[in-house]
Amino acid sequence: MPKFLIVEDSSVILKILKHIARQELPFEVIYAMNMAEALELYETHRHELVAGLIDLALPDAPDGQLVDYLLEQGLPVVVLTGTSDEQTRQSLLQKGVADYVIKETRFSYQYAIQMLHRLDKNRQVDVLVVEDSRTYRNYLVGLLGLHRYRVHQAEDGVQALQILHQKPGIQLVISDYHMPNMDGFELVQAIRHQFEKRNIAVIGLSGQEDASLSVKFIKNGANDFLTKPFQQEEFFCRVTNNIESLENMEKLHHQATRDYLTGLYNRRYFTEEAEQQLHKCQREGTPVSLVVLDIDFFKSINDEYGHLAGDQVLQQMAQYFDDGLGRFLVARTGGEEFSVLLSGLDNEKAVSLMNGFRQGVQERIFEIPEDFVRITVSAGVSTLTDTPLSLEQLFTRADEHLYRAKEAGRNLIMGDE
Ligand code: GH3
Ligand code: MG
Ligand code: MG
Ligand code: MG
Repeated sequence: MPKFLIVEDSSVILKILKHIARQELPFEVIYAMNMAEALELYETHRHELVAGLIDLALPDAPDGQLVDYLLEQGLPVVVLTGTSDEQTRQSLLQKGVADYVIKETRFSYQYAIQMLHRLDKNRQVDVLVVEDSRTYRNYLVGLLGLHRYRVHQAEDGVQALQILHQKPGIQLVISDYHMPNMDGFELVQAIRHQFEKRNIAVIGLSGQEDASLSVKFIKNGANDFLTKPFQQEEFFCRVTNNIESLENMEKLHHQATRDYLTGLYNRRYFTEEAEQQLHKCQREGTPVSLVVLDIDFFKSINDEYGHLAGDQVLQQMAQYFDDGLGRFLVARTGGEEFSVLLSGLDNEKAVSLMNGFRQGVQERIFEIPEDFVRITVSAGVSTLTDTPLSLEQLFTRADEHLYRAKEAGRNLIMGDE
């Protein structure tokens, strides 16, 4: 289990830090008030420690000895300091601290704790550095390492694109402008052409000699730019901001496309995505089937066991969909109604697949508070073959089949005649 270490000798400040940490940090935090205590904790927990927030001056380590020691051990450290002079700043950055925070306001403590959290999250963030100069590339890689990013490297735009395709999930590209084979602008344009904007942020790097490069970078699709040489802290601020805005976009996208209760896609996303898959299947001449599935007598679950129990059954139903049909497009398209688009399956195959699913539901135990229930489902399956049909028409047909299944006694799958 990952842990954070916080060391601060002032009990007042420690109390504030504890309070903020409880709200902001997802893992356990261990606290010490001096170097001796901190070293003892470090020895016990060293393998689980993610990062430390360390006071620069402690009673038994007045000149940052604890910071030095932990950095030597390879632990990322955010420093808390009372002094804000230039010399302290320079010496801390030279030591290789992840960040330093001057003890001023509640906001600075908040910032410090959030930085600890950031250092943990960064371990899952992939960044690609694209730079032809080996020296400069190493410098950038080193900086990103201080913040615990997973770093990948490319020497030019061509190599960068290869890596982006091999390693989906890279969230940030930091790219130089002047490079052989493919320069920074061409790379940004290619990235914007080949990847979704919400998935990859790009920071352009440009030399001081041409101030217009930075603007051109942005106009070509970069999110941000840095002029070389830059201050280390400016670099980190821009990197962090870009990563955070990607995370926010991802969160918004998730909220807009997912159903809150079950986490399955919602009707809106299903409709958009199904339209596209439908067109693709039509173009390629492959069959595609639409399933509309409804839980039988669901109202009675609510009536008998309460709405919360009903919600839990819906959540377990969603999980079951994910486990069994997750490779297809699945959505919660109504209260207790789900839709599945089975690309590549004709009506007979789709009905047979759904019969297996129906059987599985029938045999399954759904857990509710202090009890369990069994349910059955009915579904209608309509298929697009040679005659072109719109998604709406497919839905209408599937609904008609579903209605017939309900009429015929439920716990049934009905397909095209
Ligand atoms: P049928 O077999 O004909 O489908 O019967 P049914 O009871 O399942 O159908 P009906 O449409 O009469 O009732 C659906 C019920 O689903 C009513 C509604 O309260 C419940 N429901 C819809 N959305 C939710 C939800 O998000 N949570 C819970 N707990 N219940 C929901
Ligand atoms: Mg260059
Ligand atoms: Mg129902
Ligand atoms: Mg219903």
